[in-house]
Amino acid sequence: MTLEIVFIGIGSNVGDRQDFCDRAIALMNLLPLSQVTGVSSYYETEPVDPEGKQGENWFYNGVVRLETSLKPQALLDILQETERGLGRDDAHRGGPRAMDFDILLFGEHHIAQEGLTVPHPRLHQRRFVLEPLAELDPACMHPTLHCSMSELLEALDDTSRVTRLPLKPGTKYPSRPGCAVSPLS
Ligand code: ADP
Ligand code: MG
Repeated sequence: MTLEIVFIGIGSNVGDRQDFCDRAIALMNLLPLSQVTGVSSYYETEPVDPEGKQGENWFYNGVVRLETSLKPQALLDILQETERGLGRDDAHRGGPRAMDFDILLFGEHHIAQEGLTVPHPRLHQRRFVLEPLAELDPACMHPTLHCSMSELLEALDDTSRVTRLPLKPGTKYPSRPGCAVSPLS
């Protein structure tokens, strides 16, 4: 069974956003055949949805590094179930959300299937993704654009506001031993 390094974007813009993110990380720690091996800082970010469907509330965003032997579709299915478990309103998926998971990178894989595109097609255009991803692994290469995350961040056009928060992500709920959380520097 191949172990892959996966980066997952998390985002919340309703209720206690920090708590939703902490719960999401704790639940990712419990995934089968998987281990959380890194968590970025949390960032407070301006909603960038051009249609305004996500509402006016700013997001908490972060990125989690997961080592997993789950297949991509199985991981997406579990993450979508977890979104529902955390209270995401499935009837209005585009609206304000308790939790949004995006599979940003799945090893070096290119995936283009119904309901799953990897690398995430908007990863390189979004400051709220690239800031935490470049914090976690600046040298990580985008498998189709062939640039590192820090290069993509440097070249980025997105002027939306993204502020790193002085919080300790993912530490509120107990997790399995061996879970490495990147220290705030
Ligand atoms: P968004 O994250 O774009 O605001 P959703 O979370 O509702 O919107 O996702 C919309 C659809 O995107 C989902 O039904 C999911 O199947 C699909 N999707 C495609 N690629 C990915 C990916 N890499 N990660 C997460 N969802 C994806
Ligand atoms: Mg999503």
